[in-house]
Formats: sequence, C-alpha cells, structure tokens
Amino acid sequence: ATASTVRTVTVLGATGSIGDSTMDLLRASPDRYQVEALTANTNVEGLAKLAREFGARFAAVADPDRLGALKDALAGTRTECGAGESAIIEAAARPADWVMAAVSGAAGLKPALAAVDRGASVALANKECLVCAGDFFMQRAAKAGACILPADSEHNALFQALGSGNREELVRVIITASGGPFRTWAAADIEQATLAQALKHPNWSMGQKITIDSASMMNKGLEVIEASYLFALTPDEIDVLVHPQSIIHGMVEFSDRSVVAQLGAPDMRTPIAHCLGWPNRIVGPAAKLDLAKIGQLTFEEPDFGRFPGLRLAYDALRTGRGATTVFNAANEVAVAAFIGGKIRFGAIARLVEATMNDWVRSGNLAPLTSADDAIAVDHNARNRAATLLPQIALKAS
Ligand code: NAD
Ligand code: MG
Repeated sequence: ATASTVRTVTVLGATGSIGDSTMDLLRASPDRYQVEALTANTNVEGLAKLAREFGARFAAVADPDRLGALKDALAGTRTECGAGESAIIEAAARPADWVMAAVSGAAGLKPALAAVDRGASVALANKECLVCAGDFFMQRAAKAGACILPADSEHNALFQALGSGNREELVRVIITASGGPFRTWAAADIEQATLAQALKHPNWSMGQKITIDSASMMNKGLEVIEASYLFALTPDEIDVLVHPQSIIHGMVEFSDRSVVAQLGAPDMRTPIAHCLGWPNRIVGPAAKLDLAKIGQLTFEEPDFGRFPGLRLAYDALRTGRGATTVFNAANEVAVAAFIGGKIRFGAIARLVEATMNDWVRSGNLAPLTSADDAIAVDHNARNRAATLLPQIALKAS
C-alpha cells in the first residue's frame, strides 16, 4: 500500500474479546494500518504487548494507579502513555480515521462520543453505550458527520441487508439469537443456574459480561434497543428469532415480502472486517461457511416467560425517556452482583424490573438531551439498583 492508503486506527478495549479479533485483522495487513491509540481497563501487560507489536503512538489504561506500570512496560518505545478515564477519552479524541469502540458497559459512552464528535468512522461493538445514551448518540454522530458502523453481528447483518431497499419499503427487521446455554432449560433450573453454567456459550467466545447477558437473553434485549437507535426503528418493527446455529445473523423484510439475510460462520472477525473495510470489502479470516456440512438451520419463537429480560427491553424501549438507560444500568449492577455471588441468576431480571418500576414511579422520566443527562440517569439507576439489591437477593422466585 502507498502512504496515502494507510489508515490510522484506534482500538478502545484492545485487550478484550472484540479487541483481540480486531487486532487479529490489523495484524493480517500491517502495511495498511497505523495504530494511533490502544486502551485497556487494568491489563497493563496485555496492553503494552499490543502497543509494542503495533507501534502504537498512544496507550491508555483506565485504572489511574497503573500509569507507572504502563510506562515501565513501554520503556524504550515511542509510545506515549496515559491513565484514568480522561486518558481513555484522549485516546478516542486523537486523530484516527477509524475507531473500534469495544469497551464493555456504559463506561464506554464518553470515549465513544469523543470519537464521534470529531467525525471519525466508529465501529460500534459497545452496545451498552448506545442503550445508555438513547436517541441522542446517533443525532450527535449525524451532526459531526461521523459514520457509525455496527460491529455487533446482528446489526452488522441488518446494515448489510438494509442496502437492498429504501427505508420507506422496510416492513421489519429480524435479529437472531442463539438462545444461549439455557435455551432448552426449565424456568426453575434457569433460576438456579450457576456462574460456570452461564459462562458456557454454545456458539460464541466472548467477554464475561456479554456471555452472561446471552444466557439471560438480556443481550438480545440490549440488541433490540440497539437496533432501534441505530436504524430509527419502532419496537414493532424489530422481531427476535431464536436460531440455535447462529448462521443467519439478521434479516430485513421489505414491502414486496422479500426477506434479505446475511449469513456467516459465528466469528466476530467477519462483522469487524466489514466495518474495517467499509465501504469496500477486505479479506476475512473466518472459516468458509459450509451449509451442506451444517445441514439444518432451525428457528424458534423466543420465550418471553423464561427470559423476562427480553420483555423488559421492549418495555424500556416503549417507555423511552431514559428508561433504556435505566434498563442497562440495572442490568450491569445485576450482572456484577451475580458474578459476585450476591444474587441468583433468576434475580438478574427481577432486579432490572424492580429498578425500572422504581424509576417510573419516581416520575423521573424525561428525554435525554446530552451525555451528562444519560450519565446522570445511569448513576442514579445504579444507586437505585444497589439499594433494591438486598431485598431482591432475599426474595425467592
Ligand atoms: P471484554 O470484557 O472481553 O473486553 C472489554 C474491554 O474493555 C477490555 O479491553 C477491557 O480492558 C476494557 N474495559 C472494561 N471496562 C472498562 C472501563 N471501565 N474503562 C475502560 N476500559 C474498560 O468484552 P467484549 O466481549 O470484548 O465486549 C466488548 C463490547 O462489545 C461489549 O459492549 C459487548 O457487548 C460488545 N460485543 C461483544 C461481542 C463479542 O463477541 N465479544 C459481540 C458483540 C458485541
Ligand atoms: Mg450480537
């Protein structure tokens, strides 16, 4: 590649599962990409290793106490170091053509906005930040001329399929769900599921938080909300279909009843490669899709009874005015409590529901107009969820 075709790229959350897949794609074409900035939460060693390998100009760790450790690990290199939340935001704000937003949780909102505000191409894996921010995230991207490229496999599929028609001709979108490890389990067994059981995803290898969200189907709920904000869809225009093989990732139905789907082996490097290549296509490393070998693709209705998180997500979307922010914040608190052994698996959805009800009763519903609004609602909801947690923990199902 000539100098003019070298793209500068930044990876927020470089040490995570999505970060790992992204670095793998960059590694395959080292002459095409210059790494501007890489970030991690606490994993200084992993971050420094990547910064050395890719000659990153800047490396930032979110933990403010690890600046010294990061500097030591990058001694003798030209990589500048930073630490703390402001350094993660700085990493996003530095000039890179393309930014992968792959922090886990609403903690990724401010950094993602810093990349959006300078009009970058932003590959968005971090669905919680969109769910937390509500409508205004996409408005802000439009204002800054940023290009949001959906990296979540289902939304990437929709993004690809949407090109087959016009917005006025769209009838609905369908996002698929593997159903997770508890797809066939009875409600009473799901209630008692252990952390080890929740972490055994049948098809995808992912970070801990999203793996638990997949088991509760909160992930699909977050994705329904994500689809609504990304593509300006009403809740009625978004359907969820359980598809245990995870081969079809998303479909769009148009007015003539054509349904356009995107397929691929369950490997996040495919949607990420689509985001990295956009508007062109690059070579992807995933296994070639062999449908004859797979033999059968099957489909089921989602079960809103055994997986109440999905119903709560639709409720939050219909309520609007900050309710999706509350839904996400309460779920983050609930998942942390489940990982910490403080609540049962079944209590995750109960805590989210109790927090949402509490929020609606308090009369706090109001449209979010800024990042600060969203972050204030997020903090408030986390406090409410933490307050409600002990009584939810005690209550039997
Ligand atoms: P992960 O836990 O493996 O990685 C998270 C990354 O974010 C790590 O680099 C970590 O150091 C960093 N991080 C965590 N908390 C942070 C904080 N407070 N401040 C700064 N950095 C922080 O998670 P993942 O599976 O890679 O998922 C990342 C995001 O992508 C999530 O929002 C997830 O929902 C989404 N996503 C993941 C997958 C997948 O296959 N893993 C698929 C679709 C969407
Ligand atoms: Mg997904």
